[in-house]
Parts: sequence; C-alpha cells; structure tokens
Amino acid sequence: MTLAHVLLPQRLEKTYTYFLPPTLVHLPEGSFVRVPFGSREKVGILWRKEESAKEETSFKIKEVLVGMDVPALPEKLRRFAAWLAQYTLTPVGLVLKMVLPKDEHLELLPETFLWTCHPPLKPLTPTRQKVCDLVARDPYHTSAHALGMCAGVSPQVVSALEKAGVLSKAPVLDGDEGQGEPDLKGTPAVLSPEQNAAAKTLCHQVEENAFCVTLLDGVTGSGKTQVYLEAVAKALSKGRQVLILLPEISLTPQGIARFENRFGVSPLLWHSGVGPSAKRKTWHRVLSGNPCVVIGARSALFLPFSQLGLIVVDEEHEHAYKQEQGVFYHARDMAVVRARLERVPLILASATPSVETVVNVTLGKYTCLKLTERFAKAVLPTIELVDLRVHKKTGGPRRWICDPMVQALTQNLAAGAQSLLFLNRRGYAPLTLCRSCGERVSCAYCSSWLVEHRSLDILMCHQCGHKQKRPQACPSCEAPDALVACGPGVERLHEEVTALFPKARVGMIASDQGSVQLRQDLLSDMEEGRLDILIGTQMIAKGHHFPGLVFVGVVDADLGLCGGDLRACERTYQLLHQVSGRCGREEVPGHVMIQSFAPDHPVMQALSAGDRDAFMTAEIDARRLYEMPPFARLVAFIFSSTDEKSVEEAARAFVHRAPRTPGIMLMGPSPAPLAKVNRRWRWRVLAKADKTVKIHPFVQHCLRQTPMPSKVTLHVDVDPYSFL
Ligand SMILES: [Zn+2]
Ligand SMILES: [Zn+2]
Repeated sequence: MTLAHVLLPQRLEKTYTYFLPPTLVHLPEGSFVRVPFGSREKVGILWRKEESAKEETSFKIKEVLVGMDVPALPEKLRRFAAWLAQYTLTPVGLVLKMVLPKDEHLELLPETFLWTCHPPLKPLTPTRQKVCDLVARDPYHTSAHALGMCAGVSPQVVSALEKAGVLSKAPVLDGDEGQGEPDLKGTPAVLSPEQNAAAKTLCHQVEENAFCVTLLDGVTGSGKTQVYLEAVAKALSKGRQVLILLPEISLTPQGIARFENRFGVSPLLWHSGVGPSAKRKTWHRVLSGNPCVVIGARSALFLPFSQLGLIVVDEEHEHAYKQEQGVFYHARDMAVVRARLERVPLILASATPSVETVVNVTLGKYTCLKLTERFAKAVLPTIELVDLRVHKKTGGPRRWICDPMVQALTQNLAAGAQSLLFLNRRGYAPLTLCRSCGERVSCAYCSSWLVEHRSLDILMCHQCGHKQKRPQACPSCEAPDALVACGPGVERLHEEVTALFPKARVGMIASDQGSVQLRQDLLSDMEEGRLDILIGTQMIAKGHHFPGLVFVGVVDADLGLCGGDLRACERTYQLLHQVSGRCGREEVPGHVMIQSFAPDHPVMQALSAGDRDAFMTAEIDARRLYEMPPFARLVAFIFSSTDEKSVEEAARAFVHRAPRTPGIMLMGPSPAPLAKVNRRWRWRVLAKADKTVKIHPFVQHCLRQTPMPSKVTLHVDVDPYSFL
C-alpha cells in the first residue's frame, strides 16, 4: 500500500502519516490534500510518498480524503521550506504556513466577479456601507457569500444591495485584471555607458540561467533600478518569472508608471496592505508559471514561483529584511538560499552595501558591479557637519534647528528650492518629565518611556502600543502642571519649522501619521514641487526621487549611535548616507547639513569626507578583530514570561546545563535591555561560535536538554540583528 506523509501548516516538527487510497495514488509529491486531523479536516501538503510492503489492516491509519485541484507545490520550494526550517530552528510546519495561502485561497476560481458600487439614493446602513467600502478597496470576489465573509456581514446583506441596484457584478476572465501578459515592446530606458555595461552583464547572467550573486553597488542617484529592470525584461522575454524584494513597499503612482512604461503591465504587489482577493490571484498566477513580476515585501519570498528566472533584493542592507516574530529569518540571506536551490541569478542592489555582503564580495563568493556616476550629470551633494557643542543655544525657548541650518533653509526657500529635514523619531517628544520630582512617565506594561503624540493628545508606548491621555498632574508626586516634554520628535520639529517659516508649504511624514494614502499624497506633492519643506522619519530616507530637492538637514545625527549594538555605526552611516543622497539629483548640486554632538566620530567623518570605502574597511577590520559576524556566528535566545522569577530561573538553568563546547561561547544570562515588554519580563543569552564550529547541533542539544516551563516562552534568533 502507499503511505502519504502529510505536512500541515502549523507548529509541527514532523509530517503525519496517512493511507493513500488507490484513487489517489497518482498524486505527485507536493500535492494539496485534505486530511482528517483530530475531529476536523485540514489542508496539507503531500510531503513524501512511501510504498509499504506490509498490508497492515490492524494498524489504524486514516485515509487522505481528497486531492485538491491546485498544481502541486514545486519541489524546489519544498526544499527551500525544509532548509529554512532547519537553519532557523523552526518547526517546518510553521514555515509551510508562510508558503501556503489561507484556506480560502485554495478554492478554485471558477468565476471571479468584478463588483461595482453605484451611488445609493439614500444613505446606507453601517452594515451595507461596510460592503461598499470593501468593494472600493478590493472589487474582485467570487460570490456574494465570499464578499459578505470578507466584509464581515451576512451574504443576505450583499444580495439586498444587489436587489436595490447599489451593487452589480460582472464576470471577469482570468488575467483580465491586474497584470496581463508583459509587453516588452515598451520603451527601454536610455542608459549611460556605465549603466549599459552593468545591464549587459546582468542580462547575460539571466541568459545563462545559473545561480550567481551580484552586488549592484551604485552611488545614490546612479540609476540602479533602470539597470536591473533590463535584467527583469530579459527574464520576462525568456518566459520566466521575477521576484523583486523591497524593504518597504512605498511605491508612488510615479514609481508604478515607470514600471508600466517599461513593461506595458503593472507589477503584482505582495505586502500586508494588499487585499485578500488580489493576493489569491497573485498566488495562483505565480504557481501556474505564467511570466510575471512580483514586487513584494519579505513575505513574497515564500510565493510558489514555478518558473522563477531572477530574484532582485533592492536596498539589500536594510534591516527591515529581518523578521523578528513568528519565524525569525533574514529575507536577503534566505533569498540567496532560494536562488541557489532554484539555480537562478540574484541581484543585490544598494548604495551602502552591508558589511556581510561586502565581505562576500572580497571572498569572491559574490561578484560586484559598480556604478560610480550620478545619472545625467548630477553630482554628489556636499556634506557639512555642524558641531552642536559650538552652536548651543543659550536662553530663549529650546530650539532643535541651530542657526546655520536656519540660514541654509532661509536661503534655499528664497531660491525657490525644496528642503528636507530628517529626524528619526516619531511623535512630539520622546520623554515626559516631572519638573517637581523628576518622574519619567513610563509605560505600565513595559520598561520604556511613553512618547507624547500631541496631534492625537496622547502618550504612547512604542513597544506595546499602549495609549493613554496625557495626565494633568504628575502620576508620581501629583504636582499639577509640572510635566514637561523633553527632546524633539517630528511633530515638535514641525511646530518649530512652521513658526520659523510661516509662509512655507510644510509637510510631515511618519509611519504613525495619517493614512497610507495621505503619506503617498505628501510624497507626490514633494515629487511634483507642491511642498517647500518636507519633515520626516526614516520613511522618507530611502528610494524616493525628489527632483527639486536641494537641501537636506539631519537634525539629530547621533540618535542611532546610542543603541550600542553590533551594527549601530553601520546602520547610522547607511541611514544618513541614504538621506543625504535624496538631494541634488538633478542639475542643482545638493547641500547636506548634519547636526551632531560628536562630529569627530568616524561615522560623521566618513560621511563628510564622502569616503565610504574607508569607513567600510575600518568597520570590517573591527568586526574581524572582535570576532563578530560575518567572522563568527551568533544565536540569540530570548526568554520571556509574565512571571519575573520564572524567566530568570529558566534563563539561568539553560546556561547552567549547556555543554561546554570549544569554539562556542555563551554570554549571559542577563535581563534584556528592554527588560519588560507588554507585561512580559525578558532575559537574554547570546551564543557566539567560530566559523569553524557548527552551531546548530549545539543549539538543538541545548533546547532538548532544557525544556522550558509552561510559563516561559523561548525564541531562538539565528543571526540576530536586534539585541534589545
Ligand atoms: Zn512629579
Ligand atoms: Zn508598553
């Protein structure tokens, strides 16, 4: 008889064994099957088939119920899932959960309808309005039932709306909406000789269709995107699929238009903001093997491409590629693994490549293509450091912009050019202090201060999201009107700028300000010259092209350096370099001013000298000297519990029972810098291994040896990026 080892998409280390009835023995490995599990039925993947000689009738195993009418998951993707599970020490079922769409996506798509809302004669009830709101966002649904489910209302509501003539539906053919067939007769970009040479090499790699990793290392404004889009076009012309990963999806209509001009279709998008029916379409399309381009956040790495021809990881140095909940993985590193298993080329693009990637280039594991010129004669901006110890403001109200920067802004405004002010801090003020007793207003559930958001009139915890009204009296000594805001956030900076320049058109962007649409509108306003000054957090630092931007002011350059973790300098350098690169991308040369209390710091010196390579060399030497990644491997263990005593005991027991192993050093246990988050106390242990030692067997041994008490949760983070 034939046995089916079925993997279910949940926290399970192993497959479950079922009997494969004669009607289903033809199913290939990778097929979607429905199986009984406990008292329910579940959808899983036929992971492995096995012929068993024994006709065991006595031994009760259940039967696979049905094979689903969906193409099997490609073998390379299954191998990728298994590899990732092993590397990140995650149950493989949990990785499968990232690969599979939600159950409802698996149902066949016999008929999808395009739903349209017509203006109602009288106002709608809130329930009916919900349906219309959903249709406005996501018009593709299979049935009244499915639409009702998505909107969270009963199907009768949908039918009633149809009867009333408010809703109508029309069937759509597959491929009718979203991305059609790419049309490569679009306009290729005009490339400089340098860009052209790089594009040729990349296109050649796509032709060869073998695994290789190339760093596309280009100064900001050198047109890396145009270069890799040529490789994308080549892959499409070969009938293959392309995945482009971005750290954050903030494509403006202009960004999408550039894509459409080149390929005649819009890209398929994959991120948390994409509606369920669009995701379902994309998922099935990718699995069907149709040539297409997906632009996605890190989760797009798990899409079931069956004809993958190229992966691009843009802004490869970005820390947003590291996922730090559920399954802990780094999407850039895992993209390398997927490209290797798929045997396709991978492009890593950045103006400030990570230390890890640069070391791989030096070792000859990756090749490197450099773009040294800014596009169309634009030159790199001049960078000026402002020593805040010298330009300290004495007396008067506290100001966050020093005199030289005020002058620069004034001149730039007078010249009719745009300015950008960068401060990587959300809210109004990072700290609220009592003048009377010195109390710092903290979160009740975390060991962190509450951040004032004056526009919302609240104090908010940036760790757990807890919000409360700003108290009138000090919560500790009850002194009335004694609480003062300390330090600047973007809201406070906005207040200062509007007071200084009342006539200027000023906009502000932060991840917690307004809707996605509002932020997109502000970005478009900046791109098209309807703003004079844009203020923002790191959301505005990357990727955007503001043709009229001439001046960039960095308000607090020292912020990132305070973190003190392994990558603090690298991260600060990358971020400030990216922000600086926003300006002077057209004819007028850009000017950057950086306010710092530590202008002698190597990061600030490298920035002002424009000497990235010297900075990288020093940074790599330091990592080698202190035997830190990529010259060693780290694994972090994060223990957490609502019970303070249990978590400490568990962390101590873990270290105590870990075997002494040459080449592996355990650091800790110690309370985490963020000692408490969302009512849970946290302790950390860090393991460091020489490159010559295999750390995974050691970690697995430790985990088996010290099972966690039920009160304590342990997260294992292989190659950690956060040390908080
Ligand atoms: Zn007080
Ligand atoms: Zn909190």
